[in-house]
Amino acid sequence: MKIDRRNFAKIIGTTAVASLIPDISKSATTAVIQNGKMKLSFKTYDLQLIHTFTVAEYSRNSTPVVLTQIEYEGLIGYGEASMPPYLGESQKTVITFLNKVNLEQFNDPFRIDDILSYIDSIDKNNRAAKASIDIALHDLIGKIVNLPLYKLWGLNPTKTPDTSFTIGIDTPEVVKMKTEEAKRFKVLKVKLGRGNDKEMINTVRSVTNVPIYVDVNQGWTDKNKALEMINWLKGQGVIFVEQPMPKEQVDDMAWLTENSPLPTMADEAFQRLADVAKFKGVYSGINIKLMKSTGLREAHKMITVARALNMKVMIGCMTETSCAVSAAAQLSPLVDWADLDGNLLINNDVFEGMKIIDGKVTLNELPGIGIKEI
Ligand code: MG
Repeated sequence: MKIDRRNFAKIIGTTAVASLIPDISKSATTAVIQNGKMKLSFKTYDLQLIHTFTVAEYSRNSTPVVLTQIEYEGLIGYGEASMPPYLGESQKTVITFLNKVNLEQFNDPFRIDDILSYIDSIDKNNRAAKASIDIALHDLIGKIVNLPLYKLWGLNPTKTPDTSFTIGIDTPEVVKMKTEEAKRFKVLKVKLGRGNDKEMINTVRSVTNVPIYVDVNQGWTDKNKALEMINWLKGQGVIFVEQPMPKEQVDDMAWLTENSPLPTMADEAFQRLADVAKFKGVYSGINIKLMKSTGLREAHKMITVARALNMKVMIGCMTETSCAVSAAAQLSPLVDWADLDGNLLINNDVFEGMKIIDGKVTLNELPGIGIKEI
């Protein structure tokens, strides 16, 4: 008698043996995938900031987010949309967008290109809303194959960069206190652009000698003054200057980049893949954020294009839970610099994920984006 699985069980005469035999219907992902439906759910949530956050344009104490889930065959992929006010999305616009999404038309979550092209085609803009689907979908496929995304992408987790911790614009007393609190970080990001630039840097330097990234958030409008300030900053141990001038001042920015002794990084000026090539020669590099790029799929492509153009790449975040921050961290072995501190600025995180250990972005072995619910 041919001993196939059914006969084997018959011979042994016990159902317990079934657990010793691989169940092909469960181990072959294709068999599972074609039976299932993906179910999207979402809820609003407000992140409470530990400190009032002040940049060149505004101050705030909370950030609205929408948390998403894609459920499939008993697994849950988590995603998130974060909406700082200047990007033009809100919980309302995200919910309106997500209500238009019909994932049930797809029965294979591995068709990422088809699914995310469909998501992108539903409406223009809505980048954070789109990212919340992209992140949840990537988390889900990582969970189906039981691997962290960085492994699926073939990345070396020891190549993650240190992350900066952000010091917002404030009085010298508060800046000093925040800098002292940030002693576990090996690099700081200091916000400038409100007229007290030298005071900000001098205050930070009175506490620490760690390298500094500077983010001006479009706060300098005169290119000559900007260059003068960058020359001074270079002497203060600054590594690069992010979005020094208003995004509309493209020619001034190209001049500044050509003359600057420090790399210039595009942030507010830059959103999606199609922007990367336009900024060659205007900025030295790009600050990729999942909430701008519509998620991981496009962020990954941006890194490839920027590298082909010999541009610098950093990966940043908004104020976010550990969900979106840990998703971005999966790509971080590919970048020059990371600014992934968004989850450390809030006191009501709902996930545990990527950790900062000795100042370094540290990835774990959890599948997908590497998080679990707290
Ligand atoms: Mg920035």
